[in-house]
Amino acid sequence: MKNQRRIFLQKTGIIAAASAFSPNVLLSATSPKKEKLGVALVGLGYYSTDLLAPALQLTKNCELKGIVTGSPEKIPVWKEKYGIADKNIYNYQNYDTIANNPEIDVIYVVLPPSMHAEYTVRGAKAGKHIWCEKPMAPSIADCEAMIKACNDNKVKLAIGYRCQHDPGIQAYMKVAKEKPFGKIKMVTSAAGYFDGRTDHWKQKKNLGGGAMGDMGVYALQGARLATGEEPISVLAQASTTRPEVYHEVEETMMFQLEFPSGARASCQTSFGINMNHLQVNYEKGWLKMEPHSSYRGNKGSMSNGTEINYPIESQQAKQMDEDAMAIMNKTDLLVPGEEGLRDIRVVEAIYKSANANCTVKI
Ligand code: NAD
Repeated sequence: MKNQRRIFLQKTGIIAAASAFSPNVLLSATSPKKEKLGVALVGLGYYSTDLLAPALQLTKNCELKGIVTGSPEKIPVWKEKYGIADKNIYNYQNYDTIANNPEIDVIYVVLPPSMHAEYTVRGAKAGKHIWCEKPMAPSIADCEAMIKACNDNKVKLAIGYRCQHDPGIQAYMKVAKEKPFGKIKMVTSAAGYFDGRTDHWKQKKNLGGGAMGDMGVYALQGARLATGEEPISVLAQASTTRPEVYHEVEETMMFQLEFPSGARASCQTSFGINMNHLQVNYEKGWLKMEPHSSYRGNKGSMSNGTEINYPIESQQAKQMDEDAMAIMNKTDLLVPGEEGLRDIRVVEAIYKSANANCTVKI
């Protein structure tokens, strides 16, 4: 009914006349607003299967409408579970034809990191908004190409840093901004888990593996978000206790960061050690988080007795709903491509430092 009315108004030129007086009317006449954005997941591995697809069922502003997969055996399972229509199912070869599919508004790239740039650029060229998993890509050059492709094609690019949408993490970001405990002196952060797999992309250099890009960005985000600053130098050391598995990439990375204010951070990440915490020492107090980057909300406390505890049903649902709202309302994304790039600048410097065994300026 609404649509018929819009067509009638467009035909009679009434919208055009009205829009001369109201920019909002013009906006709604030229790009009719959808109530929910159609999302297509690219890559149906662990994160898409176990976390994102179930989270999409909890969102208010998104719908799981499509899949892009190189594994035909997964298609019947996804069709059955989520009612995906045949016309919304793509493989890596015909992916670009998604351009002709008005049911897909957003492409969510959930592939190994070395594939993020290609699938983001192709998706942007197809005219779709992009959500891309962390780490954004293995190199600064890839990240810049992704940002450029999205800008050139006038689509938005969000990075899947679910934690930045989490009120627990936002609580210590607020402390960094308001400085109730004075200057920030030291951040200690760690993110790791024991990965028992021996032949996965996380152990392969050409697919973007290594603990640093995968879990290390949580430790790095902890340091960057808790200081609210960008590091100016890094000293890093890579190591492995399982050289038979981790011979192409590091199992563990330890890195120390220096910030412009003089604050320091000591960070660790690993595929061999379970760890998930953050501590910030200020001039006049402290803040501790444990866990710091888990899916179901993160807990902590401050030296003045303040508790940080915001249970959350699904960080991913909140992230996708907020990113969808930003697209629909044409407002800024909470975690745009530029934020993913900020991390990768530091990650590149960390690898340089570990390889050269010396401090690297950023
Ligand atoms: P996964 O190995 O379980 O899934 C990867 C998918 O990519 C699989 O479906 C696989 O078939 C497909 N693929 C296509 N080409 C491939 C190739 N050449 N080699 C290997 N796989 C190929 O990985 P995952 O754990 O789902 O991770 C995917 C992305 O999601 C990564 O960027 C990862 O860092 C990210 N992730 C993010 C979170 C988070 O909390 N934000 C959690 C887990 C994973």
